[in-house]
Amino acid sequence: TKHFPVRKRGRELLSRKVRAVRAVEDVTLRLHRGRVTALVGESGSGKSTVARLLAQLYPQTGGTIKLHGEAVSDAASGKRFRAYSKRVQMIFQDPFASLNPVHTVRYHLTRALKIHGNAGKSATEQEAALTHLLTRVQLTPPERYIDKFPHELSGGQRQRVAIARALGADPEVLLADEPVSMLDVSIRLGVLNLLKDLKERLHLAILYITHDIASARYFADETYVMYAGRVVEGGESEAVTQRPAHPYTQLLIESAPDPDRPAAQEKDGGTGEPPSLINPPEGCRFNPRCPYAMKVCAEKVPPRFAIPADSGDGDSTAHFAACWLYGDGLSEADKAKLREP
Ligand code: SF4
Ligand code: MG
Repeated sequence: TKHFPVRKRGRELLSRKVRAVRAVEDVTLRLHRGRVTALVGESGSGKSTVARLLAQLYPQTGGTIKLHGEAVSDAASGKRFRAYSKRVQMIFQDPFASLNPVHTVRYHLTRALKIHGNAGKSATEQEAALTHLLTRVQLTPPERYIDKFPHELSGGQRQRVAIARALGADPEVLLADEPVSMLDVSIRLGVLNLLKDLKERLHLAILYITHDIASARYFADETYVMYAGRVVEGGESEAVTQRPAHPYTQLLIESAPDPDRPAAQEKDGGTGEPPSLINPPEGCRFNPRCPYAMKVCAEKVPPRFAIPADSGDGDSTAHFAACWLYGDGLSEADKAKLREP
């Protein structure tokens, strides 16, 4: 959970009730080595805040972050933070902003290697470590890139340098916040494929933050959907994207641009406006916009209800939706409504 305090505007005194932006509320998710987990949501849904919490760029308001089952103390600083950030690295949306324009690729990578004690001792070792990193991110031959400045590289190449820098720490977890959304469409797939390759070869756990649920289906093993600071649905990407259960996920998928569908057929108004997080709706935060809203929806926050696998072969794709439609005590007719076209 993360609440940001709201500053007073001029003389206006905010009442006690509206003093925080409740950006992330009670989000639980689990990352696994060798797997990509997507966190999908619109802007303002809290997904970047989750990544920043996991990177410990700021402390959480409540809850625990665990690495290999061990709690990571919040507001990690100094030595402790260094030890943590060696294992959990973040890459950002804008590779231009995240690389210092006055420094070369060599400088950025050497610095990362040194900070995390991976630089090697002799000059030969150092050079080998740099070459290795550039090769890992498929910037080859390395000597073509090593002494370049960020502005001499394309957006995709810059993002690869940013990924190489993160790998300089030899991490277990990579937090990728919209890593391709600022890149040309034509090169996005190349960068996602690189991340996929790194996941397998380095056995990384990757958190892939995106607003593009179609890319989650292609790229992520598991997908979690966030709405207004809460996770509303999650499970194997295949299940979540092919058989979305939560009304919000269904809306998100319907309103996503689809190359196979003429623009005129897309729903007007996209997914509409997400609510303010200063005073979010009680109960299910989606209830003011939900076509299936019931009385309970405005009163109680829905817990995660299991969604049975389609195949009926009893496999345990732990697909869940935080929606009262899947709760006990609902009539089958009510539940069936959701599946109507
Ligand atoms: Fe709609 Fe209620 Fe489900 Fe929320 S809990 S998505 S309001 S049916
Ligand atoms: Mg963001």
